[in-house]
Amino acid sequence: MRPADAWIDPSRPKERAFVTHGHSDHARGGHGAVWATPETLAIMATRYGEQNGNPVAYGEGFRVGEVDVRFVPAGHVLGSAQVVLEHAGERIVVSGDYKRREDPTCAPFEPVPCDIFITEATFGLPVFRHPDTGSEIDRLLHRLHSDPSRSVLVGVYALGKAQRVITELRRRGHEQPIYYHGAVERLCRLYEELGVSLGEMRHCAGVPKQEMAGHIVIAPPSALNDRWSRRLPDPVTAMASGWMRIRQRARQSNIELPLVISDHADWDELTCTIRELQPREVWITHGREEALKHWCMLHQIKARELNLVGYEDEDD
Ligand SMILES: [Zn+2]
Ligand SMILES: [Zn+2]
Repeated sequence: MRPADAWIDPSRPKERAFVTHGHSDHARGGHGAVWATPETLAIMATRYGEQNGNPVAYGEGFRVGEVDVRFVPAGHVLGSAQVVLEHAGERIVVSGDYKRREDPTCAPFEPVPCDIFITEATFGLPVFRHPDTGSEIDRLLHRLHSDPSRSVLVGVYALGKAQRVITELRRRGHEQPIYYHGAVERLCRLYEELGVSLGEMRHCAGVPKQEMAGHIVIAPPSALNDRWSRRLPDPVTAMASGWMRIRQRARQSNIELPLVISDHADWDELTCTIRELQPREVWITHGREEALKHWCMLHQIKARELNLVGYEDEDD
């Protein structure tokens, strides 16, 4: 953002950075100064150590150079924000990663009408329509209850997806302890400290195999086909991701129970959001730009691709 001389989610260390949320493709350590929500700064401190941070609460305005800035909720993960920039009578909204569905672990996306909307497009194809989250969680519980001699191992990203799946399970009445791989421990703790309760959680380490039969085990995707999983009793391998919509992808990763649960907007959420915000122009980043660009053109909205180098989504 030139008039503010600041960068949004820069992939290299910069003098001034606005960081939308804690995923590693957006939040990097080592900037001169970081503006972000208190939750995002706490997540960054957990992952990279203490940063030179300026905490900004949702809705609180501040000025950098000639630009008025505020953060509003993006509904993606705890602390995630869209950046609203106002300069010379023009308003630009940078969505960061976002979704429109309810998520018990974070504040809901706040629509801000604008002149230019810079949107992500991770799932920017009409084939991506995420099913209802509750029904995916019910499939998981059904599988768990259908064979109490096995555990169900659910692959999830450590930041956001893990805590969302756990709270959705609690909402569906699952009160049993949930076991976890060490890699998700720190962020689960942090979520609890920041007010998201996860119920009874137990570390897998040192637990006898049979004790985990009939239970859910949460682990990062990398652990699913790893030696590590041999400590579990005949696990059913599940994975919670928007990519599970693609059957081939599930098959390639030996996923027995694909769960389509995403922290990104699906095609309908992307297009409904653009309709709602009525921007003059849409700039599309971070994913599959072509189809969404075409959709905008059909709806008389100017659109262009913004190719960002060095982005590889951590989460989906
Ligand atoms: Zn993200
Ligand atoms: Zn991202």
